[in-house]
Amino acid sequence: MGQILATDEFLETNGTAFAPDFQEAIDLAEGALEAALDRGFVHWVLTYSGGKDSTATTVLTLEWLKRKGYPVKAHVIYADTGLEIPTLHAQAQEFLHALQDLHPEVSVYTAKPEAEESFWVNLIGKGYPPPHSRFRWCTRRLKVTPMDAVVQTLEGKALIITGVRFGESDARDARMHLSCSRGGECGQGVWYEESRRLGVGYLAPIAFWRECYVWDYVSLVAPAFGYPTKAIEEIYGGRDTRFGCWICTVVRQDRAMQKIVSSPEGRRYLPLAEFRSWLKEFTEQRENRVLRSNGVPGRLTLHARRTILERLRTTEAKTGLSILSPEEHQLILQYWQSDRYNDSYQ
Ligand code: SF4
Repeated sequence: MGQILATDEFLETNGTAFAPDFQEAIDLAEGALEAALDRGFVHWVLTYSGGKDSTATTVLTLEWLKRKGYPVKAHVIYADTGLEIPTLHAQAQEFLHALQDLHPEVSVYTAKPEAEESFWVNLIGKGYPPPHSRFRWCTRRLKVTPMDAVVQTLEGKALIITGVRFGESDARDARMHLSCSRGGECGQGVWYEESRRLGVGYLAPIAFWRECYVWDYVSLVAPAFGYPTKAIEEIYGGRDTRFGCWICTVVRQDRAMQKIVSSPEGRRYLPLAEFRSWLKEFTEQRENRVLRSNGVPGRLTLHARRTILERLRTTEAKTGLSILSPEEHQLILQYWQSDRYNDSYQ
Protein backbone atom coordinates (compact mmCIF):
# COMPACT_ATOMS: atom_id res chain seq x y z
CA MET A 1 0.00 0.00 0.00
CA GLY A 2 2.13 2.87 1.27
CA GLN A 3 -0.10 5.56 -0.11
CA ILE A 4 0.61 9.23 0.32
CA LEU A 5 -2.80 10.79 0.35
CA ALA A 6 -4.60 14.02 -0.35
CA THR A 7 -1.82 16.37 0.69
CA ASP A 8 0.33 15.20 -2.17
CA GLU A 9 -2.51 15.50 -4.60
CA PHE A 10 -3.21 18.96 -3.30
CA LEU A 11 0.36 20.06 -3.84
CA GLU A 12 0.39 18.53 -7.32
CA THR A 13 -2.56 20.64 -8.37
CA ASN A 14 -1.83 23.83 -6.47
CA GLY A 15 1.93 24.01 -6.62
CA THR A 16 4.23 25.51 -4.05
CA ALA A 17 3.38 29.17 -4.56
CA PHE A 18 -0.18 28.85 -3.31
CA ALA A 19 -0.68 30.66 0.01
CA PRO A 20 -4.12 30.07 1.53
CA ASP A 21 -5.46 32.36 4.22
CA PHE A 22 -6.23 30.89 7.64
CA GLN A 23 -9.81 29.80 6.94
CA GLU A 24 -8.81 28.42 3.54
CA ALA A 25 -6.01 26.49 5.21
CA ILE A 26 -8.50 24.91 7.64
CA ASP A 27 -10.93 24.12 4.81
CA LEU A 28 -8.19 22.53 2.73
CA ALA A 29 -6.98 20.41 5.63
CA GLU A 30 -10.53 19.22 6.24
CA GLY A 31 -10.84 18.55 2.52
CA ALA A 32 -7.79 16.31 2.80
CA LEU A 33 -9.47 14.42 5.66
CA GLU A 34 -12.66 14.09 3.62
CA ALA A 35 -10.72 12.68 0.68
CA ALA A 36 -8.97 10.19 2.98
CA LEU A 37 -12.31 8.96 4.30
CA ASP A 38 -13.15 7.41 0.95
CA ARG A 39 -10.02 5.28 0.94
CA GLY A 40 -11.29 2.61 3.29
CA PHE A 41 -8.88 2.95 6.19
CA VAL A 42 -10.31 1.31 9.30
CA HIS A 43 -7.93 3.01 11.75
CA TRP A 44 -6.86 6.63 11.78
CA VAL A 45 -3.73 7.00 13.87
CA LEU A 46 -2.60 10.42 15.10
CA THR A 47 1.05 10.70 16.14
CA TYR A 48 1.04 13.23 18.95
CA SER A 49 4.30 14.57 20.35
CA GLY A 50 3.09 17.49 22.46
CA GLY A 51 4.42 20.03 19.98
CA LYS A 52 2.33 22.60 18.21
CA ASP A 53 2.11 20.87 14.81
CA SER A 54 0.88 17.54 16.13
CA THR A 55 -1.42 19.32 18.61
CA ALA A 56 -3.08 21.28 15.80
CA THR A 57 -3.35 18.15 13.63
CA THR A 58 -4.83 16.09 16.45
CA VAL A 59 -7.45 18.68 17.39
CA LEU A 60 -8.38 19.44 13.80
CA THR A 61 -8.80 15.75 12.94
CA LEU A 62 -10.69 14.72 16.07
CA GLU A 63 -13.08 17.63 15.92
CA TRP A 64 -13.74 16.87 12.27
CA LEU A 65 -14.31 13.17 13.03
CA LYS A 66 -16.67 14.13 15.85
CA ARG A 67 -18.76 16.25 13.49
CA LYS A 68 -18.90 13.27 11.14
CA GLY A 69 -20.00 10.90 13.95
CA TYR A 70 -16.62 9.09 14.16
CA PRO A 71 -16.89 7.11 10.92
CA VAL A 72 -13.50 5.43 11.58
CA LYS A 73 -11.70 4.18 14.68
CA ALA A 74 -9.40 6.97 15.88
CA HIS A 75 -6.21 6.42 17.87
CA VAL A 76 -3.80 8.93 19.39
CA ILE A 77 -0.27 7.76 20.15
CA TYR A 78 1.89 9.91 22.37
CA ALA A 79 5.64 9.35 21.94
CA ASP A 80 7.12 9.53 25.44
CA THR A 81 10.88 9.48 24.94
CA GLY A 82 11.50 9.99 28.67
CA LEU A 83 13.43 13.12 27.68
CA GLU A 84 10.68 15.67 27.21
CA ILE A 85 11.20 19.01 28.87
CA PRO A 86 9.29 18.42 32.15
CA THR A 87 6.93 21.40 31.85
CA LEU A 88 6.07 20.36 28.31
CA HIS A 89 5.55 16.77 29.34
CA ALA A 90 3.07 17.96 31.99
CA GLN A 91 1.30 20.03 29.34
CA ALA A 92 1.06 16.99 27.05
CA GLN A 93 -0.44 14.90 29.86
CA GLU A 94 -3.05 17.58 30.53
CA PHE A 95 -3.89 17.68 26.83
CA LEU A 96 -4.33 13.90 26.68
CA HIS A 97 -6.62 13.89 29.71
CA ALA A 98 -8.76 16.62 28.17
CA LEU A 99 -8.81 14.72 24.90
CA GLN A 100 -10.10 11.59 26.62
CA ASP A 101 -12.87 13.60 28.28
CA LEU A 102 -13.83 15.26 24.99
CA HIS A 103 -13.58 12.09 22.88
CA PRO A 104 -14.19 8.97 25.00
CA GLU A 105 -14.44 6.99 21.72
CA VAL A 106 -10.80 7.63 20.89
CA SER A 107 -8.05 5.22 22.02
CA VAL A 108 -5.02 6.92 23.57
CA TYR A 109 -1.64 5.18 23.91
CA THR A 110 1.70 6.19 25.33
CA ALA A 111 4.58 4.72 23.32
CA LYS A 112 7.89 4.46 25.18
CA PRO A 113 11.16 2.98 23.98
CA GLU A 114 12.23 -0.34 25.53
CA ALA A 115 14.90 0.20 28.20
CA GLU A 116 17.33 -1.58 25.88
CA GLU A 117 16.82 1.13 23.26
CA SER A 118 16.63 4.12 25.57
CA PHE A 119 18.81 7.17 25.13
CA TRP A 120 20.83 6.52 28.29
CA VAL A 121 21.51 2.85 27.61
CA ASN A 122 22.81 3.70 24.14
CA LEU A 123 24.85 6.66 25.32
CA ILE A 124 26.24 5.50 28.67
CA GLY A 125 25.93 1.74 28.23
CA LYS A 126 27.03 1.20 24.61
CA GLY A 127 29.02 4.42 24.35
CA TYR A 128 27.25 5.95 21.37
CA PRO A 129 28.30 9.59 21.07
CA PRO A 130 25.37 12.02 21.57
CA PRO A 131 23.32 12.24 18.38
CA HIS A 132 24.24 14.87 15.84
CA SER A 133 23.10 15.70 12.32
CA ARG A 134 25.34 13.07 10.70
CA PHE A 135 24.70 10.33 13.28
CA ARG A 136 21.16 10.71 14.40
CA TRP A 137 20.50 7.42 16.09
CA CYS A 138 17.78 8.66 18.45
CA THR A 139 14.61 9.52 16.51
CA ARG A 140 13.93 6.05 15.22
CA ARG A 141 14.78 4.36 18.52
CA LEU A 142 12.98 6.80 20.80
CA LYS A 143 9.95 7.74 18.76
CA VAL A 144 9.34 5.76 15.60
CA THR A 145 9.91 2.17 16.72
CA PRO A 146 7.73 2.47 19.87
CA MET A 147 4.92 4.05 17.84
CA ASP A 148 5.40 1.46 15.14
CA ALA A 149 4.86 -1.29 17.75
CA VAL A 150 1.43 0.16 18.61
CA VAL A 151 0.44 0.49 14.93
CA GLN A 152 1.39 -3.14 14.32
CA THR A 153 -1.20 -4.27 16.87
CA LEU A 154 -4.06 -2.78 14.83
CA GLU A 155 -5.94 -5.14 12.58
CA GLY A 156 -7.12 -3.67 9.30
CA LYS A 157 -5.95 -0.84 7.09
CA ALA A 158 -4.36 2.02 9.03
CA LEU A 159 -3.82 5.64 8.07
CA ILE A 160 -1.07 7.54 9.88
CA ILE A 161 -1.87 11.23 10.28
CA THR A 162 1.05 13.44 11.23
CA GLY A 163 1.67 17.13 11.81
CA VAL A 164 4.50 17.31 9.30
CA ARG A 165 4.72 20.63 7.50
CA PHE A 166 6.82 21.51 4.52
CA GLY A 167 8.95 24.62 4.44
CA GLU A 168 7.12 27.69 3.23
CA SER A 169 9.73 28.40 0.60
CA ASP A 170 9.93 24.86 -0.70
CA ALA A 171 6.84 22.72 -0.26
CA ARG A 172 8.82 19.63 -1.16
CA ASP A 173 11.51 20.18 1.43
CA ALA A 174 12.37 16.58 2.20
CA ARG A 175 14.65 17.59 5.04
CA MET A 176 11.61 18.53 7.09
CA HIS A 177 10.85 14.86 7.43
CA LEU A 178 13.44 14.49 10.13
CA SER A 179 14.06 18.03 11.20
CA CYS A 180 13.75 19.29 14.72
CA SER A 181 16.15 22.17 14.28
CA ARG A 182 14.05 24.68 12.38
CA GLY A 183 10.79 24.62 14.27
CA GLY A 184 9.69 21.24 12.92
CA GLU A 185 8.81 18.44 15.28
CA CYS A 186 11.35 15.70 15.31
CA GLY A 187 10.01 12.41 14.03
CA GLN A 188 6.72 13.63 12.59
CA GLY A 189 7.88 13.09 9.04
CA VAL A 190 9.55 9.75 9.51
CA TRP A 191 6.24 8.03 8.90
CA TYR A 192 6.25 9.49 5.42
CA GLU A 193 9.30 7.39 4.70
CA GLU A 194 8.05 4.42 6.69
CA SER A 195 4.55 4.19 5.23
CA ARG A 196 5.55 1.85 2.42
CA ARG A 197 7.40 -0.53 4.71
CA LEU A 198 4.56 -0.60 7.22
CA GLY A 199 1.89 -0.97 4.56
CA VAL A 200 -0.07 1.98 5.90
CA GLY A 201 -1.42 5.16 4.37
CA TYR A 202 0.04 8.51 5.25
CA LEU A 203 -1.65 11.86 5.52
CA ALA A 204 -0.26 15.26 6.52
CA PRO A 205 -3.34 17.49 6.47
CA ILE A 206 -1.55 20.67 7.60
CA ALA A 207 1.49 20.14 5.36
CA PHE A 208 0.89 23.46 3.64
CA TRP A 209 0.01 25.52 6.73
CA ARG A 210 2.17 28.46 7.68
CA GLU A 211 3.70 28.40 11.13
CA CYS A 212 1.56 31.35 12.28
CA TYR A 213 -1.61 29.45 11.33
CA VAL A 214 -0.53 26.53 13.49
CA TRP A 215 0.06 28.86 16.43
CA ASP A 216 -3.28 30.59 15.89
CA TYR A 217 -5.01 27.24 15.74
CA VAL A 218 -3.37 26.01 18.94
CA SER A 219 -3.78 29.29 20.86
CA LEU A 220 -7.21 30.42 19.66
CA VAL A 221 -9.21 27.70 17.90
CA ALA A 222 -8.39 24.60 19.99
CA PRO A 223 -9.18 26.29 23.36
CA ALA A 224 -12.64 27.16 21.99
CA PHE A 225 -13.24 23.40 21.58
CA GLY A 226 -12.19 22.85 25.23
CA TYR A 227 -8.52 21.85 24.85
CA PRO A 228 -5.99 23.27 27.34
CA THR A 229 -3.67 24.50 24.61
CA LYS A 230 -3.80 28.23 25.17
CA ALA A 231 -0.75 28.11 27.42
CA ILE A 232 1.52 26.19 25.02
CA GLU A 233 2.93 29.33 23.46
CA GLU A 234 3.67 30.77 26.88
CA ILE A 235 5.22 27.56 28.20
CA TYR A 236 7.48 27.39 25.18
CA GLY A 237 8.49 30.98 25.70
CA GLY A 238 7.13 32.31 22.42
CA ARG A 239 6.53 31.21 18.87
CA ASP A 240 10.06 30.97 17.56
CA THR A 241 11.02 27.76 19.25
CA ARG A 242 11.58 24.03 18.85
CA PHE A 243 9.83 21.03 20.38
CA GLY A 244 11.80 18.00 21.43
CA CYS A 245 13.99 16.36 24.03
CA TRP A 246 15.77 18.48 26.64
CA ILE A 247 19.01 16.61 25.96
CA CYS A 248 18.86 17.20 22.18
CA THR A 249 22.38 17.67 20.86
CA VAL A 250 21.26 17.68 17.23
CA VAL A 251 20.42 21.36 17.59
CA ARG A 252 23.45 23.58 18.10
CA GLN A 253 21.83 25.82 20.71
CA ASP A 254 18.74 24.78 22.54
CA ARG A 255 16.70 27.95 22.62
CA ALA A 256 13.58 26.18 23.88
CA MET A 257 15.39 25.10 27.05
CA GLN A 258 17.10 28.47 27.40
CA LYS A 259 13.73 30.19 27.37
CA ILE A 260 12.20 27.77 29.82
CA VAL A 261 14.99 27.95 32.39
CA SER A 262 15.00 31.74 32.25
CA SER A 263 11.41 31.82 33.58
CA PRO A 264 10.83 31.66 37.38
CA GLU A 265 8.88 28.36 37.10
CA GLY A 266 11.47 26.78 34.82
CA ARG A 267 14.52 27.74 36.84
CA ARG A 268 14.65 24.45 38.66
CA TYR A 269 15.47 22.77 35.34
CA LEU A 270 18.63 24.79 34.80
CA PRO A 271 20.80 21.74 35.74
CA LEU A 272 19.28 19.89 32.75
CA ALA A 273 20.40 22.63 30.37
CA GLU A 274 23.83 22.70 32.01
CA PHE A 275 24.16 18.94 31.73
CA ARG A 276 23.27 19.04 28.03
CA SER A 277 25.87 21.72 27.27
CA TRP A 278 28.50 19.90 29.32
CA LEU A 279 27.73 16.56 27.61
CA LYS A 280 28.08 18.03 24.14
CA GLU A 281 31.44 19.57 24.91
CA PHE A 282 32.76 16.65 26.96
CA THR A 283 32.00 14.04 24.31
CA GLU A 284 33.59 16.11 21.54
CA GLN A 285 36.99 15.84 23.26
CA ARG A 286 39.16 13.23 21.59
CA GLU A 287 40.42 11.76 24.86
CA ASN A 288 36.86 10.75 25.74
CA ARG A 289 36.46 8.71 22.55
CA VAL A 290 37.91 5.38 21.48
CA LEU A 291 39.87 6.11 18.31
CA ARG A 292 39.18 3.80 15.38
CA SER A 293 42.06 2.28 13.43
CA ASN A 294 41.85 5.18 10.95
CA GLY A 295 42.11 7.70 13.79
CA VAL A 296 38.48 8.80 13.64
CA PRO A 297 36.81 9.17 17.09
CA GLY A 298 34.40 6.29 17.73
CA ARG A 299 32.44 5.27 20.82
CA LEU A 300 32.84 6.92 24.21
CA THR A 301 35.51 5.44 26.44
CA LEU A 302 34.43 3.52 29.53
CA HIS A 303 35.99 6.23 31.67
CA ALA A 304 33.92 8.90 29.87
CA ARG A 305 30.75 6.84 30.29
CA ARG A 306 31.38 6.51 34.04
CA THR A 307 31.87 10.26 34.28
CA ILE A 308 28.62 10.89 32.40
CA LEU A 309 26.74 8.54 34.73
CA GLU A 310 28.08 10.32 37.81
CA ARG A 311 27.20 13.68 36.38
CA LEU A 312 23.71 12.48 35.47
CA ARG A 313 23.16 11.29 39.04
CA THR A 314 24.22 14.71 40.31
CA THR A 315 21.76 16.34 37.91
CA GLU A 316 18.99 14.13 39.24
CA ALA A 317 19.83 15.18 42.79
CA LYS A 318 19.86 18.87 41.85
CA THR A 319 16.51 18.80 40.05
CA GLY A 320 14.73 16.17 42.12
CA LEU A 321 13.91 14.35 38.87
CA SER A 322 14.28 10.63 38.35
CA ILE A 323 15.93 10.43 34.94
CA LEU A 324 17.49 6.98 34.83
CA SER A 325 15.35 3.94 35.67
CA PRO A 326 16.79 1.02 37.71
CA GLU A 327 16.38 -1.20 34.64
CA GLU A 328 18.41 1.19 32.50
CA HIS A 329 21.09 1.37 35.18
CA GLN A 330 21.30 -2.41 35.25
CA LEU A 331 21.62 -2.62 31.46
CA ILE A 332 24.35 0.02 31.47
CA LEU A 333 26.39 -2.03 33.94
CA GLN A 334 25.91 -5.11 31.76
CA TYR A 335 27.16 -3.32 28.66
CA TRP A 336 30.23 -2.13 30.51
CA GLN A 337 31.08 -5.79 31.16
CA SER A 338 30.52 -6.97 27.58
CA ASP A 339 33.38 -7.48 25.14
CA ARG A 340 31.43 -5.83 22.34
CA TYR A 341 31.23 -2.44 24.06
CA ASN A 342 34.56 -2.08 25.80
CA ASP A 343 37.43 0.21 24.81
CA SER A 344 39.39 -2.33 22.78
CA TYR A 345 36.59 -3.51 20.47
CA GLN A 346 36.95 -1.97 17.00
S1 SF4 B 1 14.47 15.87 19.74
FE1 SF4 B 1 16.67 15.62 19.34
S2 SF4 B 1 17.35 14.06 20.86
FE2 SF4 B 1 15.11 13.95 20.75
S3 SF4 B 1 14.73 12.30 19.28
FE3 SF4 B 1 14.68 14.27 18.16
S4 SF4 B 1 16.77 14.55 17.38
FE4 SF4 B 1 16.84 12.98 18.97
